[in-house]
Amino acid sequence: MTPVSHSVFGFAAGFILSGITAKAKLSRRRTVILCTAGAVLPDLDAVWLVLDKEIYYGLKWFSHHAVLHSIFGVAIIALIAAILFQPKLTFHAKDSRQAFIKWMASFFVLFSGGLLHLPCDMITLPGVWEGLPIFAPFSWDRFGGWAHMPWRDFYFICFSLCTYFVFSLIWLCEYLFKKKTIIIPILAALMLSYSTYYFYNSRFTSTIAWENNQKELVGEDIYFFAKKFEKQIFRLWNMKTIF
Ligand SMILES: [Zn+2]
Repeated sequence: MTPVSHSVFGFAAGFILSGITAKAKLSRRRTVILCTAGAVLPDLDAVWLVLDKEIYYGLKWFSHHAVLHSIFGVAIIALIAAILFQPKLTFHAKDSRQAFIKWMASFFVLFSGGLLHLPCDMITLPGVWEGLPIFAPFSWDRFGGWAHMPWRDFYFICFSLCTYFVFSLIWLCEYLFKKKTIIIPILAALMLSYSTYYFYNSRFTSTIAWENNQKELVGEDIYFFAKKFEKQIFRLWNMKTIF
């Protein structure tokens, strides 16, 4: 899945989780930011695309879709990120119980965002890695490819951008009118349900079938624009054009 789509899952989940983290005095804004960041961080291993393609497309423990795409890896990233994002809370945790609870809430949000990343990648085709080793380093069995669709989906990128726009607009109105409502958490739950439904019902047997479906969903203009953009990305990083 693309970073835009991963991030929107974290963004939406952050609003729902803010109902829980409010008890730890972690603000809605911080919860949403941490959850969005957590949902994108496992793709830090995509840095190999720029540094070393053999490692990126390889099966080393630190390649793309390797240890950082496991439950253990997600927990480690969340731990490091919680220390980096909340240094004050981390180092004063012993002094104050409240600070420690707040820090734990930050870790929980980052970890939840990271966990969301895994099914989102398992939905798409397994690629050269043949899925994700979600139980690494304890077991390197790989899982994925449930929906038989490529890692980039033009329709879902458009849907993600619309979600960002609508949620931000409502959030801005709430801020201006100084009134916090549950409209966004409700919309977030609907958005996550719809996304799950969409992905589980998207199964394509070929590139052509997927491309025709995308053309139908987003219209020819957006489709050809996205196709041009995709070509540039693939050329820029010399990526394998696997379906
Ligand atoms: Zn990923």
